[in-house]
Amino acid sequence: MNSMESRLQAVKERILAACSQAGRNTNGVELLAASKTFDAETVRQAFAAGQRAFGENYVQEALEKIAALADLRAEIQWHMIGPLQSNKTRAVAEAFDWVHSVDRFKIAQRLAEQRPAHLPPLNICLQVNVSGEASKGGVAPAELPALAQQVAALPANRLRLRGLMSLPAPASDLAAQREPHRLLRELLQQLQAELQRELHRTPSSQALQLDTLSMGMSEDLEAAVLEGATCVRVGSAIFGQRSSVRS
Ligand SMILES: *Cc1c(COP(=O)(O)O)cnc(C)c1O
Repeated sequence: MNSMESRLQAVKERILAACSQAGRNTNGVELLAASKTFDAETVRQAFAAGQRAFGENYVQEALEKIAALADLRAEIQWHMIGPLQSNKTRAVAEAFDWVHSVDRFKIAQRLAEQRPAHLPPLNICLQVNVSGEASKGGVAPAELPALAQQVAALPANRLRLRGLMSLPAPASDLAAQREPHRLLRELLQQLQAELQRELHRTPSSQALQLDTLSMGMSEDLEAAVLEGATCVRVGSAIFGQRSSVRS
């Protein structure tokens, strides 16, 4: 095994161990490789080691990698996980499969308008600010239901609301790490129930499939899996420490 293979293997074993501790089926957790600051050749090595889903934070950097790896496009899933400005939505709508970091209606509306008709719908998660840090992106939990209602009403052939994403403040022990993840799971359950009720009032709206909890990173993926994560976003445990200051 080369070092990329063994690091990926180690992360998968952590996920497996957490799934078995939680009594969960391991198929229920997708590993998203957070490849920001690592170049296209490194992503290609991870692909060769079997990894298929990649998360990127910076639009320009991502577009260059997506172009350099165009030969793998049919097999790779590209996920946008970083903050998204409205002047970058068109490029994202055209190039990505998922966006995890939507926290304003305007961004979702633009993505829906700009998603090319020949592509499958763009999958969307709403980013929730679970730790209440002013510096972090994400909608406040109290404002989530209204935003979700609006996003769920956008044309389902262009954009599909799939769930929630969070980026909590780091915490040192497992119990503290689990708290914000538990909150995100509860928010998803409440939302599911509310939107379901709403759907009964307006039968024309599209059936919702809120099946995604995007939470957990290199340091806290066990806590996230124990609280029901369906997608963990792992960077440094796969690729090593990032050298870039902006990461
Ligand atoms: C960088 C990043 C990750 C991965 O972080 P690691 O600690 O390197 O695993 C996950 N999610 C987001 C949004 C990120 O920006």
